[in-house]
Amino acid sequence: MKNFKTESKRVLDLMVNSIYTHKEIFLRELISNCSDAIDKLYYKSLQENIGLSRADFDIKIKSDKEKRTLTISDNGIGMTAEELENNLGTIAKSGSLAFKSTQEKKEDIDIIGQFGVGFYSVFMVADKVEVVSKAYGEEKANMWVSSGTEGYEIKNAEKETNGTDIIIYIKADTDDDNYSEYLEYYKQRELIKRYSDYIRYPIKIENEVPVSSSENEKDGSDKKIETKKEWETINSMIPLWKKSKSEITDEDYNKFYKDMFYDFDDPFMHQHISAEGAVEYKALLYIPKKCPEAYFSKYFERGLKLYSNGVLIMEKCKDLIPEYFGFVQGLVDCELSLNISREMVQHDRGLQRIATNIEKQIRKELQDMLANDREKYVEFYKNFGLQLKVGIYNNWGMDKDKLQDLIMFYSVKQDKLVTFKEYIEAMPEDQKYVYYATGSSILSIKKMPQAEKVLKSGYDVLCMTDNVDEFAIKYIGSYNAKEFKNVTDGNTGIENATEEVSDEDKPILEFIKQSLAGEVFDVRLSKKLDEHPVCLSSEGEVSLEMEKVFRNMPNTGDGTNDLRAKKILEINAEHKVYEKIKSLYQSNQDELKEIAQILLDQAKLIEGLPIEDIDKFVSLTAKHISD
Ligand code: ADP
Ligand code: MG
Repeated sequence: MKNFKTESKRVLDLMVNSIYTHKEIFLRELISNCSDAIDKLYYKSLQENIGLSRADFDIKIKSDKEKRTLTISDNGIGMTAEELENNLGTIAKSGSLAFKSTQEKKEDIDIIGQFGVGFYSVFMVADKVEVVSKAYGEEKANMWVSSGTEGYEIKNAEKETNGTDIIIYIKADTDDDNYSEYLEYYKQRELIKRYSDYIRYPIKIENEVPVSSSENEKDGSDKKIETKKEWETINSMIPLWKKSKSEITDEDYNKFYKDMFYDFDDPFMHQHISAEGAVEYKALLYIPKKCPEAYFSKYFERGLKLYSNGVLIMEKCKDLIPEYFGFVQGLVDCELSLNISREMVQHDRGLQRIATNIEKQIRKELQDMLANDREKYVEFYKNFGLQLKVGIYNNWGMDKDKLQDLIMFYSVKQDKLVTFKEYIEAMPEDQKYVYYATGSSILSIKKMPQAEKVLKSGYDVLCMTDNVDEFAIKYIGSYNAKEFKNVTDGNTGIENATEEVSDEDKPILEFIKQSLAGEVFDVRLSKKLDEHPVCLSSEGEVSLEMEKVFRNMPNTGDGTNDLRAKKILEINAEHKVYEKIKSLYQSNQDELKEIAQILLDQAKLIEGLPIEDIDKFVSLTAKHISD
């Protein structure tokens, strides 16, 4: 017996026990090797006019449950004794990489192997492995045998045709691992579908099938159903994304999406990218019709499938897609210089470039849609606008430049969704701010006295009805040098919003302010109120709407919960209530204090804010009703 070369023993041990997190990938690795071996022979045939076609090749998988063996065979180029020695006797030596680097027309080859370690993953599930191989054009066949770290042997063997049989002696089951599963048809099928569906040669499993259902039925039910063995091709072989766009119909794209991402609906749209140049990759991206329900929960996992040369490397590679486009489904196929386990690709620089490129492509597609097919964009926005706005809010607005032109809000004046750009283009010249109002619905915003005042001045108001809206707006700050202004802001910049305070009014307002000390920041007279006796506005960073959101957030003890707006109680100067206030100020200041409290609480109710002391409010109103 020969020992593995140099440090191979230790490397092998490391490999088998720590590089791969899923034992099942051994099948992927061996099948990839078969595919490489076939590619090599096919390539040779092209060059030397041997006359073999792709249809002449296949990869076969056969189980023997009694002997606990799994045999994987290919009719590819095979290995000579020397090649068995070199390629399998030396860990981290890749015959495939060497092959590839000596070929001229590299683009024709889909060779997967490059590290020379994949083969050894078989020892995660095997006690012993026999590799029987006959190189193309050679007379003799040879066998390489090994039981793992100890070493290997090479001896003569019998094999009629060129190619390689890998006979795996599956380990006995343990408490943790059900190795027997790998001998089962359903498991093999599942793994091939998952990892090797786009290997371009047929992967066949020998499966037992009923001889013919009609014959079996005739014989009566107590008879054992007769079966025969048949080779069944499992993989779909052709990766849709590698075909040219002109060959693919919308139906093909949709069907592929539904099969691959288990959706019942057709996707909202697809994008097929074939990038060449500095970053080379192919991608098939889909925006679903509806946002997944769990999108904002911790159970949602974003990510694109990552393939390298048609072989699945990662089910959900989240580094390929930014959080704000997390609803995009799809896959990327590229030739990565993967690190050896093919699993730990996250920090790969090539991958980062692809991710940047993909983000740009998605954004461009959306921007084009907005420009050229507005109706479609609005439909998209109704489904995913919230995700984009949350995207601005997250990362403290770091991505705002990328997203702010994709955001829309309902405009009261234009009666439709508009972008910031469109809002600003429609602005009268004297308008300083982009006005917005927050509320639970467009209808309730339209009824807001503060919004009414802005609209009456000839300015449009954007309606913000999602909790995240105002927070996102705060991060955007301004658009084209126009600042955003909440209509409830104490200083909306609209003239005459607050009354000129006369000498008569001044002490009255001051008195009310004192009696509501701690609850209000200021008390003012207002003209912007039609019917309402009072309303609230705010000044500073935290708006009334934000206070509501903060109050509704889970209390994590960091103080966010207690953030309050600086409230301004605005009193309608033309309302009868103000007459009463003026007379009470002269005649009964104790009663005025109580009235002030009632008015503040009313203003809070109008705004949808909670009243601090409900008992007090009830008893005060009752008292003044019965007076
Ligand atoms: P890699 O595929 O990254 O090169 P592996 O450890 O999977 O590394 O395989 C090592 C080498 O063994 C391959 O490069 C190839 O030369 C050879 N080899 C493995 N399996 C086969 C096979 N079925 N037919 C022919 N050669 C094979
Ligand atoms: Mg390999």
